[in-house]
Amino acid sequence: MINPLRGMKDLIFEDSQKFEYIIATASKIARNYGYSYIETPILEETALFKRSVGESSDIVGKEMYQFMDKGENDVCMRPEGTAGVVRAFISNKLDRQDANYRFYYYGSMFRYERPQKGRLRSFHQFGCESFGEGSVYEDFMLISMIKDIFDALQIDFSLNINSLGCSDCMPLYRTKLVSFLENIKDDLCEDCNRRIATNPIRVLDCKNEKCQILLQASPKLINNLCGSCDSDFTKLQTLLNEACISYEVDTNLVRGLDYYNKTAFEFISNNIGSQSAIAGGGRYDRLVEFLDGKSTPAVGFALGIERIMDLVILPESKREGLYLGGMNEESINSLLQIARKQLEVQKVTMEYKPKSLKAHLKSADKAGARTIGIIGDDELSNGTIWMKDLETKEEKTININEMLSL
Ligand SMILES: [Zn+2]
Ligand SMILES: [Zn+2]
Repeated sequence: MINPLRGMKDLIFEDSQKFEYIIATASKIARNYGYSYIETPILEETALFKRSVGESSDIVGKEMYQFMDKGENDVCMRPEGTAGVVRAFISNKLDRQDANYRFYYYGSMFRYERPQKGRLRSFHQFGCESFGEGSVYEDFMLISMIKDIFDALQIDFSLNINSLGCSDCMPLYRTKLVSFLENIKDDLCEDCNRRIATNPIRVLDCKNEKCQILLQASPKLINNLCGSCDSDFTKLQTLLNEACISYEVDTNLVRGLDYYNKTAFEFISNNIGSQSAIAGGGRYDRLVEFLDGKSTPAVGFALGIERIMDLVILPESKREGLYLGGMNEESINSLLQIARKQLEVQKVTMEYKPKSLKAHLKSADKAGARTIGIIGDDELSNGTIWMKDLETKEEKTININEMLSL
């Protein structure tokens, strides 16, 4: 027997229904916000992720599903969705147009990490990326969209926001932070010490409790923002207040990826026992240029589908469609004709084997059908079908030829 690869699983029955429900809900809301669907390849050149996600990140450092293909190309299964969409934006020369482009995507992502509870090597994300709009109103609209998605899915969340500054204020802040960290580095953990040199901002979200206590006294970026970053961050908070979207400023929210600037946000599930991030995103105005495109402001987010699947409750399914069955072999031709006609307008479940009425009613119930249609011996000789609405209990006998000619 061949099993799925380690850390990978099939979505089937309730899981696949939840997946479909989440994607359908999120896609509809994204389209209402002006986003169109984009599908990019799962496999890309490894260089794309090294350059966009950043060599110092855990993803690129440890978790890439990377291999040489038969043509000796260094390739990688996408570990996240943004890089591919940005690559597509540039490959299709959309950076040369003076216009805004908004895309949504969803699909499988791959990270080669030690499988553990809640972490799969193949998982799913839904995301949106907006290109060309540099104003903070766009950041606000993205947050509003995620709120709408979680409201529609009836998932409780809390929202954390931060500003990561820009190429004017971030480097000055980084220098301040590094000199602070150098002074306390003997007391910081190994990871933090490594990051002081490679990516000092990431030290701020170290999960080590001892580090977190020491870092409380660290200089905060939001107190060191330049005029433009400061007024954008204030504006965002005003907009959220006016829209009654509650949030907290989390100065340790720094995103794991190197290309984020200005607005960063994270949605945390309020569900007891799973205080985990269910969505994250922010502005990444430098990434298009990093990847050799024309400098273009951009902002986006991604939802973690597996985490949301743990939280979502499927809406109760209503009885729907028609169940067809016969009590004799001879009725099959008429039943097939009726089925093919009815399939134009509703879901049809058909039983090929003759059974008793009682057995058919049981099967129709199991299939969740709204209506049952049965051809018994009397119906067969009269050219009719007996129908019953399983909700209203209304019964009638219909002429088959009349039904087919409708
Ligand atoms: Zn700035
Ligand atoms: Zn640490």
